[in-house]
Amino acid sequence: MPINDIRLSPHFKLKEFQCRCCGTVKIHPMLLEALERLRELWGNPIVITSGYRCANHNREVGGAKESRHMKGFAVDVVCIASEQARVSKLAREAGFDQAIPYGVRNFIHLGVWPKD
Ligand SMILES: [Zn+2]
Ligand SMILES: [Zn+2]
Repeated sequence: MPINDIRLSPHFKLKEFQCRCCGTVKIHPMLLEALERLRELWGNPIVITSGYRCANHNREVGGAKESRHMKGFAVDVVCIASEQARVSKLAREAGFDQAIPYGVRNFIHLGVWPKD
């Protein structure tokens, strides 16, 4: 069985969150819960293009120095530009405090900020 091929919740597997360069993975439960809520509100399959990032990978892709991707608090998901405003609003309802649309790059960045 390939590593990280493990179902975490009805719609997500661990491997979807793993670092694209090394397979390391870290994910806060609050991120998973918010994603499942968004899946329900949006009614669309959610495709994660970037989940956890190790420090090297974060540097490679030009991520922010203190990126939430390095903490397991953020994902980038596919979303066409014309839907980004609506999906950002749904994301806030779902529990994300961060929803950053990337326009014609066709993705949005979603982040949670756990209290503990
Ligand atoms: Zn990596
Ligand atoms: Zn991001």
